[in-house]
Order: sequence, then C-alpha cells, then structure tokens
Amino acid sequence: MNWISDWALPKVKALFGQPREVPDNLWHKCPACEQMIFHRDLERNLYVCTHCNHHLRLTAAGRVKATLDEGWSRIELPKVPLDPLRFRDQRRYADRLKEAQAKAGMDDAVLVAQGSILGRKAVVAVFEFAFMAGSMGAAVGEALVTAAKLAVLQDAPLIVFTASGGARMQEGAVSLMQMPRTVIATRMVKEAGLPFIVVLCDPTTGGVTASFAMLGDIQIAEPGALIGFAGARVIEQTVREKLPEGFQRAEYLLEHGILDMVVKRHDLRATLARLISLLREPMLLAEPEPEAEALPALPAPEPAEAAEDAKPA
Ligand SMILES: [Zn+2]
Repeated sequence: MNWISDWALPKVKALFGQPREVPDNLWHKCPACEQMIFHRDLERNLYVCTHCNHHLRLTAAGRVKATLDEGWSRIELPKVPLDPLRFRDQRRYADRLKEAQAKAGMDDAVLVAQGSILGRKAVVAVFEFAFMAGSMGAAVGEALVTAAKLAVLQDAPLIVFTASGGARMQEGAVSLMQMPRTVIATRMVKEAGLPFIVVLCDPTTGGVTASFAMLGDIQIAEPGALIGFAGARVIEQTVREKLPEGFQRAEYLLEHGILDMVVKRHDLRATLARLISLLREPMLLAEPEPEAEALPALPAPEPAEAAEDAKPA
C-alpha cells in the first residue's frame, strides 16, 4: 500500500480508464432504416421512426401513457410465489428476477391500468418486453386474471397489448398453466358481455400467441409486428421449405385472415375508442346516416329496387 495505489492510480483511472459518460441514449438508431433519430423526436413520435415509420418497441408505461387519457391509475397486482421450482441455469432464476425488476421498475412483465380512452372507460394490461422478454409466468397470469376481474367489476372493456417471447421456462409447468388460466380469465370478460380487444405488438410469440392473445373479439396488430408461435427458422427446418416473404409479420397475417386490422401507433387510440363505441353503444351508431343516400348511384338504372328486394321465388 502506498500513495500510488491509494491515491494516484484511482485518479489516473478516473481520467483515462473509463470512457466519458456520454449519454448514449440521446440518439437512437432505427433498426429498420439505420438512420439516427434524436430521442426527443422519437419520444414525441411515440417511438415510430421519423424517417421510415418503423414501429420501435414501446415500454409498458409509455404504452399506457400513449393509450389512456390523463388521470389513469396503475393497479396493484397480487403477489405470487417467486421462483416456485428454485430454478437455476447458468444463474439463479431469483437473481434474474431481481435484476429484471430493478431494470424495468416493475414486479413482473405486465402492467395493469384503468382509465379512459377518449372518454370511454377501459382496463388495459400491457406487456413489458424488456422484462425477461415479456415471458408469461405465474405473475403474468395473475396480472391478466386481475385485469379481467377488474374489467368485469368496472363494466369496462379489456384491452391487452401483448409483446412476449412466450412461456417463462424458469417456471416450468407453472408457466404452462397460465395458458388455460388466461384463456378462462378473458372468457369471463366475454361472458359479462364486455369487449376483449387484443393489440399484438412486436414480437408476440409462443405460449402467449397460443392462448388468450388470439382470442380477442377484435384482433389488432401494429405494422410490421412479428406474430407467431414457433420461430421462422425452426419452421423452415421442420417443413424443409423456404418460407414466403413477410411470413409471421402483421401485414401477412392480415392478408391471410388471422387479424382484423393493422393499425399505425398514431391511430391506435382513436381506433380503440371507435371500437369501444361500436361494441358498446351500437344503437347510437346505428341511426341512419343522412349522407348515405347522397352516395353515387350504382351503374344499373334502378339500383334501389334491385338491391333492396330479394327476387320473388
Ligand atoms: Zn427508420
């Protein structure tokens, strides 16, 4: 021990050893077009690339803010037994959990909130992909059950934004049990006559796709979102065929009838509000529209009669 190691070395290290703390989050690189975007611009644009409109991943909190009107509240979720199998791979699952909790500022991968969307009340459950790839374990199952119960209690539609790599392997069979559990939970919402809307975000795969995420009354996805069960490479190796372009992407699934709509992030709020109105106040919207008759007539000379009356037998 001398003054060099005690005093001089740390100073020198501080000067040269570590790179200067440049806030590297000031600029983001778009994964699609590789252009640089200033983080404020990106934030203001709801994490949609200002150059190519690629939809980057949004945090759960950011998603709630972008969806609900001001004044929403976060719902406290019931605690579940952590690490039921005392699982360990290279590291202990308990340690992985702690690290993810500190990083994401959440207890687990789903955030539940209630509030309103352009004045229509709603309960939302949002997956945080940054939390262990949004994987579904007991806590995620519990979050969805809580959200479903709350929707029924509040007489509000349930909207789930998914982003998940599937089941949480570290919870083994317990994580698989969340598949029927979440299906039953969303079933409760349907049985109460309330809309259950799913917004599939990039990426939604595995056990989440294979359970409640495909059972929405309305299935929406964000542009370019990867949605599937198994990975494309695994499928390609299994079927020994080259998969078509755009396979497992939102637009491809829309074309093939898996989705009802692909909606840009900027239009999601308005779309959800309109859907809630359509599903909950159908009588109000069913009033005859005065402009309907002003539409250009069909080419046939007497379109009204031909179209209105079925031909007599
Ligand atoms: Zn871009």
